[in-house]
Amino acid sequence: MSTGQSTSQFGELQAFFRGDYVPLKDANVNIMTHALHYGTGVFEGIRGNWNDEAGVVNIFRLREHYERLLRGCRLLMLDIPYTADQLCDITVELVERNGHRQDIYIRPLAYKSAEMVANLKLQDLESDFTLITIPFGNYLGSDTLRCCTSSWRRVDDPMIPARLKISGIYVNSILAKTEATLAGFDEAIILNHDGHVCEGSGENLFLVVDGKMITPALEDNVLPGITRDTVIQLAQSELGLEVVERTVDRSELYLADEVLLTGTAAHITPVVELDNRPIADGKTGPISAQLQKMYFDIVVGRNPKYLHWCTPASPRPVVV
Ligand code: PMP
Repeated sequence: MSTGQSTSQFGELQAFFRGDYVPLKDANVNIMTHALHYGTGVFEGIRGNWNDEAGVVNIFRLREHYERLLRGCRLLMLDIPYTADQLCDITVELVERNGHRQDIYIRPLAYKSAEMVANLKLQDLESDFTLITIPFGNYLGSDTLRCCTSSWRRVDDPMIPARLKISGIYVNSILAKTEATLAGFDEAIILNHDGHVCEGSGENLFLVVDGKMITPALEDNVLPGITRDTVIQLAQSELGLEVVERTVDRSELYLADEVLLTGTAAHITPVVELDNRPIADGKTGPISAQLQKMYFDIVVGRNPKYLHWCTPASPRPVVV
């Protein structure tokens, strides 16, 4: 997607802010806000996919995203007054109010909203929840990826737990992504503290070797991705593949038959080159292609078997 988003770009959109639906341009915080200084927030990245035949935006695995957000809230002592079901309802309401008739990105954020900077005690700080929805297209900018191994390492659980989407952790991802793109690559592959394969800057990683799928274990400091879980389920139940979650050596990537990255923003995207070496023949592999096709049908709501993963939101007619 393009860089440089600003509120002015999004005209009449509304946000959910301080318990109410308000114009996005008015949803502003004070510069004393704790989360702005210390990254004391947890967020989600959720996609809504426009289904033209049904005239709805299908929000993919909405509840699972909020369950992950609420787990992060527990860790960061973010006391927000909403259950997962209420957060889902607030989201559908905002998407409908914003009248989107295209693919969208949904960004909830629970954060330490206290206007208090010289205080590092989570228990002293009040929290809030906010939500925005914006039009969103291709995130990675390419259908196949040229990646490099990052010189940055993934944070380890006793430093900041990578299994939660904590705002401050994303400096780690941002350093890796910036390094990779400035060097001319599409995405970074990040190793963990002990040199094993972890994930992309905003994606989980899978390898295909001899018809078997392998993905780094959660204990190796990967985010428990919702797309990762989706791919595991589809590979097992639809393609009949064995999926192994285990520690992965860096050298295994260069020798794999296929490597793919998965994420809400990134969808399922094949890595065709790593550190200037082609992966296999340097083209999208057959398992990646099958998973991609299945996934796109499911997220748009075209596969009845997986409609339970889609929460529909109907754009409201614009009142003039
Ligand atoms: N890893 C990281 C570091 C991420 O930021 C993301 C995006 N949320 C993912 C993996 C993929 O997670 P999901 O499939 O839930 O979007």
